[in-house]
Amino acid sequence: MPHTAKSFNRCQHIFNPSSDLARRCGSPALRGETHCYFHHPQRKPAAMRHARRGFSIVIPHDHASLQYALHQVMHRIAANQIDPHRASLLLYSLQLAGQSLP
Ligand SMILES: [Zn+2]
Repeated sequence: MPHTAKSFNRCQHIFNPSSDLARRCGSPALRGETHCYFHHPQRKPAAMRHARRGFSIVIPHDHASLQYALHQVMHRIAANQIDPHRASLLLYSLQLAGQSLP
């Protein structure tokens, strides 16, 4: 069936999922997705939850662990899971750590 203006999916996000007030968001979902713009799992609110929870990063003691730490930061930047200012501080710290490695 061809997509028409009325055939879009509805957002599957549930407000108050474990209470009597539970209700589905129902906003138009992003094309080909199951959630609307505001509830898409890769959107910023989810990212900011990650950012608030933080993540542990290895203290680089050799080039391999430095690469690993860089990869962790790069992954979170690419996935929009880290505050850009925090990311730049981490990258700068890793740069300093790299300079002090033997
Ligand atoms: Zn929604």
